[in-house]
Amino acid sequence: MAATEKSIEERIDRLHADGIVDLHFDMPMDLYEKRNRSNVLTTDFLPELEAGNIGVLGAAIYIEDRYLPEMGLRVALDQISRLYAEVEGAGRFAICKNYEDILDARKARRIALLITMEGVEPLGTDRDLLRSFYELGVRAIGLTHARRNAAGAGGVFAPSGSARDGLTAFGRDLVRECEALGVIVDLAHISPAGFEDILAITTKPPIVSHTNARKYYDIERNITDEQIKMIGERRGVIGVNAVLVSPKKEESTLDRYVDHIEHIRNLIGVDGVAVGFDFFEFIYRQWRESARKELAAKFTTPHFIPDLTNHSHARNLTRRLIERGFSDMEIEKILFRNWMRIFRELL
Ligand SMILES: [Zn+2]
Repeated sequence: MAATEKSIEERIDRLHADGIVDLHFDMPMDLYEKRNRSNVLTTDFLPELEAGNIGVLGAAIYIEDRYLPEMGLRVALDQISRLYAEVEGAGRFAICKNYEDILDARKARRIALLITMEGVEPLGTDRDLLRSFYELGVRAIGLTHARRNAAGAGGVFAPSGSARDGLTAFGRDLVRECEALGVIVDLAHISPAGFEDILAITTKPPIVSHTNARKYYDIERNITDEQIKMIGERRGVIGVNAVLVSPKKEESTLDRYVDHIEHIRNLIGVDGVAVGFDFFEFIYRQWRESARKELAAKFTTPHFIPDLTNHSHARNLTRRLIERGFSDMEIEKILFRNWMRIFRELL
């Protein structure tokens, strides 16, 4: 290895020493689908997480359409059960409910899991269930995925056409209750009208766990420069998504991913940008052709970045950030410090 290459690899080691924080990963639904197996965390997930030095992971409960409405609550509870059982068996993970838990997990060299919820379908229209999920460890909630539910509607995968009516009374109620309980309200996926409603209600720094800049992928599921600035003004943080960096396959590259980071940094400063990779190629590859076609028809065809497809590729991102001139302090904030500040302030 050439001397400069060696020094870059050592620099990456140093930058990864505290562990990367990725705030969006669809792991619980996969654990649920594999519920007849044991040690799924250790065999299917741990090797890639370790290769990428992942320290904290947002584990998102998500309910697929085929379980709704009747099975939504049940599948959500089962996903959490699987997560607890797997964590107990694996020994290398810890489910964390507050900032101190995360620090303790990292000190013990465990991967800290923060349970999140993508779409409140499991709650139905019952606000009291929010408290139950809180007690089970859910610490961040995005009200919607792309579909409409009792709380509101998601942003469409098109430049316009999302529902204009914002949050429902139930949705507004949930946002208030989340803030009161200490659950982070996640603005990922929410429609533009819902986005404004949430910011009007909340007082704490807002987060968008996994999204992209509409400058490079102009759909209402992503966020405009104006929305990015609204997050920045409130000292919030935006996690950059690795599966919607461009509508074009040939432009879905690591450099385009860094373009999103750079764009957000240029608009609101480096304190407002982090990662929410949303690596779901491992799920996509398990799907039959018919399920993939359904996804393409309903939303879009995801373009996975060849050298940023899963957690084991995290070093490629850090290397590219170095090559693109990001300072060590900036890289640490993007990979680790910004989300940790949010946990410290909000949990
Ligand atoms: Zn999502």
